[in-house]
Amino acid sequence: TEATNSFVIDEKVIDGIFKPRQDFSHKGTYGKVTIAAGSYGKIGAAVLATKSALRTGAGLTFVMAPQCGYEILQTSCPEAMFIRGGKEWLENFESEDDSVYGIGPGLGTHENTAEGLLTFLKSYKKPVVLDADALNIISKDRQNLNLIPQRSIITPHPKEFERLFGSTENSFERLKLAHKKAAELNIYIVLKDHHTQIITPEGNVFYNITGNAGLAKGGSGDILTGILASFLAQGYSEEEACIMGVWLHGRAADLAAEKYSKESMLATDVINTFGDVFEELN
Ligand code: AMP
Ligand code: MG
Repeated sequence: TEATNSFVIDEKVIDGIFKPRQDFSHKGTYGKVTIAAGSYGKIGAAVLATKSALRTGAGLTFVMAPQCGYEILQTSCPEAMFIRGGKEWLENFESEDDSVYGIGPGLGTHENTAEGLLTFLKSYKKPVVLDADALNIISKDRQNLNLIPQRSIITPHPKEFERLFGSTENSFERLKLAHKKAAELNIYIVLKDHHTQIITPEGNVFYNITGNAGLAKGGSGDILTGILASFLAQGYSEEEACIMGVWLHGRAADLAAEKYSKESMLATDVINTFGDVFEELN
């Protein structure tokens, strides 16, 4: 941790990263995303992550969810393609598949789901975005941490971080542990909190200062997963995707709070405000 550099994410940083949409382009230009999420009673998490990927510019978006989510997802996200999920799919995914996976929101931790996810991770070698129940499944055995593909992005909230890596005395100790793990596992850790910190495998820390307590509500994290997978699919590097994703999530939340109040704003309102943030950037 000696070589640590800390940065605050400001608009100048974002301007240096953001790539405006090109006139001469087509959906293939902007990549493919597959959101693997949802389970009975938590299909909403899949809806939110999928909408979020769609609303942040991914070229093609797929959502892999159990059959019980089929009509809900096809109706609420008609722009996305449905893939029937579950154990079989994760175990038989096509290795030539060139989409970027965002896995975990509302996924549940059923043993079949866990088996499917771990089998997938054993053979998959490209960076993925792992959140929520994907992290909870991994947490069940410390050995599973080594299955996370190199350069992947994980997005734990403090409780999920503790399940993954153990408890710490305070937030400084937690940051130190995050540094150690990001380097050891060669992954990006997005430590979600009031001020989210991004810890890179190289030991850099990026502090985010957008966002507000209106995000302290179910669904907020699910939309971050969709954003991150979408930016990776569009060709941003892992570091760029993390920085721009976390910043945009918070900035949209700040605009949503102005419009609806922190009390009343919903994750869906945050998604619907992404457009205003892109307008500010363009
Ligand atoms: P999750 O717990 O997975 O739903 O994720 C919550 C998301 O909302 C994360 O991106 C947090 O950084 C953000 N969030 C939650 N509470 C606050 C808060 N009080 N201030 C700012 N951001 C928050
Ligand atoms: Mg969450």
